[in-house]
Amino acid sequence: MTLAKAVTIFAPEDLRVVERPLGELDPARVRIRFGAGGICGSDMHYFRHARTGDFVVKEPLVLGHEIAGTVEAVGAKVEGLAPGTRVAVNPFRPCGHCPRCREGRANLCENVFFMGSASKNPHMQGGFATLFDTTPEQCVPVPDSLPIEAAALAEPLAVCLHAVKRGGDLAGRSVLVVGAGPIGLLTLVAAKLRGPARAAVVDLAAAPLAMAKALGADAAIDLSADPKGLETIEAPDVVFEASGTAAGLASAIRTVRRGGTVVQIGNLPGGDIPSPMNAVMAKEIDLLGTFRFDAEFAKAVDLIASGKVDVMRIVTARRPLLDAPAAFRLALDRSQSVKVVLTAA
Ligand SMILES: [Zn+2]
Ligand SMILES: [Zn+2]
Repeated sequence: MTLAKAVTIFAPEDLRVVERPLGELDPARVRIRFGAGGICGSDMHYFRHARTGDFVVKEPLVLGHEIAGTVEAVGAKVEGLAPGTRVAVNPFRPCGHCPRCREGRANLCENVFFMGSASKNPHMQGGFATLFDTTPEQCVPVPDSLPIEAAALAEPLAVCLHAVKRGGDLAGRSVLVVGAGPIGLLTLVAAKLRGPARAAVVDLAAAPLAMAKALGADAAIDLSADPKGLETIEAPDVVFEASGTAAGLASAIRTVRRGGTVVQIGNLPGGDIPSPMNAVMAKEIDLLGTFRFDAEFAKAVDLIASGKVDVMRIVTARRPLLDAPAAFRLALDRSQSVKVVLTAA
């Protein structure tokens, strides 16, 4: 029997690398050897609280949905993928036949499989494992010249490409991103691909804001240094809320221009949170959600492989997969970390 080593969350702060048996490879599946994996904000929520938003860990969960690796073996019925092929692994597998899939919104699939998520029971196991099995459809080959860490970050870029699509036409518009974590920063990058006149980023920490500037933000507003920093800017047309905090959402609603658009990307704390909803009414704000992605995954791989988007610029540290607990603690320290990537060795 093949044993994988898998980064597994059992309870809050109880993250361990445990051996996980892999059965015979299903004839329709592909076995992937882990190459690299990005630690996501949702992974860190699972680490700290054994939940993210409304998704609660009820059984051991292997984390990891920002994954790339190498095809180790292919099942007998798999065509077009050979062992040794380097791939970005799409964590998302829609059913293809539910009403949401049929109307072209597969990211909202009612029977979705999403790696490393407790959104369903039994949970869907993730890719922070030395070996794991997936479907060939989830494997997007990448050029040999592309660092495997960059391929792993196709997933968060795909999230952000979908988010900016939800934000509508950004050409010539002013954009504000609330929260300069990895998703906020990649939302900035994705928004800038759509030709906004101006893109600003707001956060409470100086280090990620410096990175926002380096990535082309026209303004980086540090509310810890200037608590009224949002009151002095011209009200933006579109605000992307990527902090996942009630305060961030309130700021987005208060700051957006009358008749503007707010897109909620961040995973807010579970349960109900108070928000200034009368402003949504009185300013006639379009308040939109955005969730995961669909075709944007392949587009993200393309943008990264072609060099149009350099996702490695947000990577602040690389740590071995088997040192994941320490890597998670490092990732939680926003004074020194933006994106921490786990590597095979
Ligand atoms: Zn993620
Ligand atoms: Zn479906």
